[in-house]
Amino acid sequence: MGFRRVVVTGGAGFIGSHVCEALLERGARVVCVDDFRTGSPDNLPDHPHLGVAPGDVTRPIDLLGDVDLVLHLACPASPVDYLRMPVDTLRTGALGTLHALELARRKGARIVVASTSEVYGDPLEHPQREDYWGNVNPIGPRSVYDEAKRFGEAAVEAFRREYGTDTGIVRIFNTYGPRMRPDDGRVVPTFLRQARAGEPLTVHGDGRQTRSLCHVDDLVRGLLAMAESPHHGPVNLGNPHEVTVLEIAERIIALTGSTSVVEHGAGMVDDPKRRRPDISLAREVLGWEPEISLDEGLRRSFAPHPVG
Ligand code: NAD
Ligand code: UDP
Repeated sequence: MGFRRVVVTGGAGFIGSHVCEALLERGARVVCVDDFRTGSPDNLPDHPHLGVAPGDVTRPIDLLGDVDLVLHLACPASPVDYLRMPVDTLRTGALGTLHALELARRKGARIVVASTSEVYGDPLEHPQREDYWGNVNPIGPRSVYDEAKRFGEAAVEAFRREYGTDTGIVRIFNTYGPRMRPDDGRVVPTFLRQARAGEPLTVHGDGRQTRSLCHVDDLVRGLLAMAESPHHGPVNLGNPHEVTVLEIAERIIALTGSTSVVEHGAGMVDDPKRRRPDISLAREVLGWEPEISLDEGLRRSFAPHPVG
């Protein structure tokens, strides 16, 4: 890896902490900027080449010294998290991304910004390709996340066009693995926690909605491939293996040997009904595709390192 000093915003979160670890393993110096609202310093290794700069990215990011690469991940990502802090999520997605872009511009660094499959909303095209513009309800509860991320993409493209900033956008699809908070509300940590406790698995609605789950080790490889590539994207990063939420519940019950049952509750407002990435572009320009199957990934997620 050619990067000497990398800033990772949101580095104390689930994906960010795996990114920091991978960068340190590759010999980079890493500065993690995070205010720990959904992450924790406990997620980070004690390493001489890792610095932690506590701070909120909705304020300008002032750092001394050279920076080659900014990986901008800071943002609440679980629906439960962003629905309980709607205005802050808008601020983070909008102001936070502008500040990360300003930092990259000032330092002459490449920046890769974490966008999301949620920019496709409740998609009318399936699977989702990068040239699909999406189907987002602009005033629904999820819009605080979806529209902030869409604004973020617009900001990235504006900096590239106006200032020639070296930018990249990755659209991350549902990712899971060790260090998700057991109470973060997302489907895998929730079902694993419930299955382990012998409690009912709380399926929202009929459970026929689909997701395509990517293990975090695969995702981090893709993200770093994007950092090293000159491509500006957006590029989808996710595992194209599509499953229903009901199947996720059944797989987790089977894999944990739990006695839990499935309990259907109310559906979430504007919950996307189908989601699967078309990863042709990532295969072509990054030479990347996921390698970890769902069963293998789930096994890795509860042993030896439990999710959360
Ligand atoms: P996470 O909540 O575990 O991590 C986010 C991190 O950002 C946390 O450490 C949090 O404290 C920090 N943060 C949030 N707002 C901040 C602010 N204003 N200032 C400073 N730090 C702030 O989430 P994650 O799953 O690791 O997601 C990381 C990134 O990837 C997010 O940008 C998210 O939108 C994107 N993403 C994740 C997924 C997924 O399935 N995990 C899917 C699509 C996109
Ligand atoms: N889900 C569920 N029960 C839960 C948590 C989530 O049925 O306890 C469903 C949720 O309604 C959605 C899917 O699982 O259809 C994925 O939800 P998650 O919050 O993990 O991510 P999203 O893709 O919605 O951002």
